Order: sequence, then C-alpha cells, then structure tokens
Amino acid sequence: MTPPPKTFDPAEIRRLDKTHGWHPFTPMGPWIDPSHDPLVLVAGEGPYLFDAEGRRYLDGNSSIWTNIHGHAHPRINAAIRAQLEKIAHVSFLGSTHPPGAILAARLCGFFPPQTLTRCFFSDDGSTAIEAALKMSAQYWEMTGQPQRNRFISFRSAYHGDTRGAASLGDVPLFRGGLGALDFPVARISSLEELTALPDATFGDVAAVVIEPILQGVAGMRPWPRGMLAGLREWTQQKGIHLILDEVMTAFGRTGKMFACEHEAVIPDFLCLAKGLTGGYLPLAATLTSETIFSAFLGAPSRAFYYGHSYTANPLGCAAALASLEVFEEEKVLDRLTEKILFLTQALKHLTGAREIRQCGFVAGIEVREGTGMAVCLAARRHGLLTRPIRDTVVLMLPLCVSTGQIDDAVQAIALAMQEIDSQP
Ligand SMILES: *Cc1c(COP(=O)(O)O)cnc(C)c1O
Repeated sequence: MTPPPKTFDPAEIRRLDKTHGWHPFTPMGPWIDPSHDPLVLVAGEGPYLFDAEGRRYLDGNSSIWTNIHGHAHPRINAAIRAQLEKIAHVSFLGSTHPPGAILAARLCGFFPPQTLTRCFFSDDGSTAIEAALKMSAQYWEMTGQPQRNRFISFRSAYHGDTRGAASLGDVPLFRGGLGALDFPVARISSLEELTALPDATFGDVAAVVIEPILQGVAGMRPWPRGMLAGLREWTQQKGIHLILDEVMTAFGRTGKMFACEHEAVIPDFLCLAKGLTGGYLPLAATLTSETIFSAFLGAPSRAFYYGHSYTANPLGCAAALASLEVFEEEKVLDRLTEKILFLTQALKHLTGAREIRQCGFVAGIEVREGTGMAVCLAARRHGLLTRPIRDTVVLMLPLCVSTGQIDDAVQAIALAMQEIDSQP
C-alpha cells in the first residue's frame, strides 16, 4: 500500500480550519492554539488512514464507530458510483426508489417473519432515536393511552444530540443551555432497580430505551448477561415499548449482526445508523412491528408526520445494500469469531491497564487516571488512531482487519501505555 500523493498543503488546510472551522464535542480554545497541529486526514484504504504528510495509521475506532469493512472497499465504492450515475438524491416523500425499498425489505428480513416488518429511514443515530420516541408516544396517544408520554433510560446512557435523544442521555456536560427543555425521562441504573419500582410509577411510561448488551459512550460497559432478555420480559408484562439503540452495537461489532440476537430479543423499535452504510454515508433506520405500524393507518391525522430532506438518500441506501452483500460474500461474521478470540489473547499483554472490557470485537482499555488522551496521542506515534472516553481507550477496529493488524493495534497501545507510565 503506497501513501497517496500530497494533494493539499496541510499548513493551509490547518489555517482555514482554525480560522473558520468549529469541531464537534471539541473545546476549541486548545484546538486553535498555535501549538496545536490538527491531524489532516486525506485518504483511507482498508483499515488504514493516511494523513496529509503521508503517514499511515490503523483506524482504531473505525472513524468514530462507523466503518465496518474498511475504507475505499471496492464493492461499496462501485455501488455508490453506480447509483451516482443514475441519481444522487430524490425525495422519499411522495415517491419510492429501488435502493430504498430493497433496503427496507432486507433490514426487516434479518428478523423472524411478523416481528420487525417496517423500516423508517432518517439520517443519523439521533434521528433514528427521535423517530422511535415520537412513534411510541403517538402510538399510545392514538390507542387510548395518551398519558403514556414519558420515557425511561439508563444511567450513563448516550443516545445522540437532538432534543429527544439528548434528553435520554445521562452526560450532564452535553446539556448546554437546553437542560430545562428536556423530555420527561426517568433514569435508572439496573433492571433490578426498575422491577423494584411500584406499578403506579409506570402508568405514564411510553417506552424504555437502552443500548443493548453494551453501553458505548459510558466507556464500553457490557450489561450483565441475561439483563436484556429480562428487560424484554418485564416491558412485555407491563405493556411498555422497548426501544433498542443499536446505533453502535449493530453490524457485527458484538460478534453478531445485531446485539439483540445474543439474548434472542425482538424489541418494539430497533434503531440503526453508524455502521448501516458500512461507514460511508449518513443514513439511519428505525425498524418496528406491524402492530405499531397499523395504529398509524386510517384517518390522515393518524399519519407519522416526521421526515428529513435526505430521508432514504439513494446513495446511502446503495452503500448499505453493498455493505450487507459484503457481509455475505466475505463471510464477515464467520471470520470474525477467530478475530474476537485473537483480540482477547492480544489484550492479555496489556498488563498495565486498570481494567479491560471486551464485548465481541469492541474493547475498552481503562488506563491510569488522567492519562487517556496522552495514551491515545502516544499510540498515534506508533501508527494507531483512536480516542479515549475519559480514561478508557477505545479499540474498535473495522471488521476487515487481519490478526496481524490486531496485533499491531494492541502493540501500539502497549507501547503508548509504557511511555506514558514511565513519565512522572
Ligand atoms: C453515536 C450514537 C448515537 C448517535 O448517533 P449520531 O449518528 O451521532 O447521531 C446514538 N446512540 C448510540 C449508542 C451511539 O453510539
């Protein structure tokens, strides 16, 4: 693999960025400081990224948890190009198109017949959640239980940044000035805490929302085994919807196509985004059942009045279909089993870690307090790009990596930890 030729003057790009840019989740003071040289990424191939100076890095967090089969995958690139030759975008409001209709059917096809049968497209994880919240509340409003308009979410949860999704989240730092406008949400820390609450508490609850099997932004924290199945049973007993946020966990990350398969759980709503297009384009989906869908039939006032300009963007749908084909053609999940075991073995060499949490092909490595960012910056010098969540270094490689590349990634973290730990 040869690094791409320099096509940009990185100094000029940095100057423009520092003068006019504003980055997500970023304290911008240190960013624009003259001592800071932001990384300028210009290309990718497979699990590697290249910067403007021609340096190569393993994409250690799959470009913020989105990439699945590697960058510039020939199959996905070709699918996007083929769709581009036909049409880049056309509205899903008032018409349909082949990639949108076929993708909706394919996503529902992953689940047993008569379970999740309907697919509503939006743009990103936040809007997939937003759509599920509104569908759930409107369902109750139209079926004689209008008081059900509150939600339950879990401590340390993250569900996105639009208002409803942010209301569910439990990261006070992310509230900004809008905390007072939050949706009504009760936060609980465990299934036990939920089931111990008196029944009277649930009469106005529309849905429980959870990141199944593994909480991401909380620091890659797996739930106890059986928790999700227990939650499904409890929500069914109480007649409350279950919304699964699989924005991070879907498409192989936990070793299965969807995390809910680990405990044979079918939710009322399933939210997909990040990896849906293989990490190529913004596209999201909210899957739901025929029971929910049919409540929206009848008078026009019962319709689901929600949507975005780029809903079911054909380029995104074409990329998603190609990504699902790659899963089959390259037997991605079968081959992942061995890589997950290899990762477990490799992580054992990180002896200096305070705790290592692994769930499928995702790992959170808790390093010495206060050193998370320093370890990631040091790992960069050893050819690995990733970001910490506080002091948890995230290792979430694209599923296409070889065992040798897994070794390289863990070795980079090991060297980085040694360097930082040997500093006073
Ligand atoms: C990233 C993420 C979201 C938000 O998705 P966006 O595409 O960033 O809006 C929601 N839930 C989970 C679990 C996520 O990891």
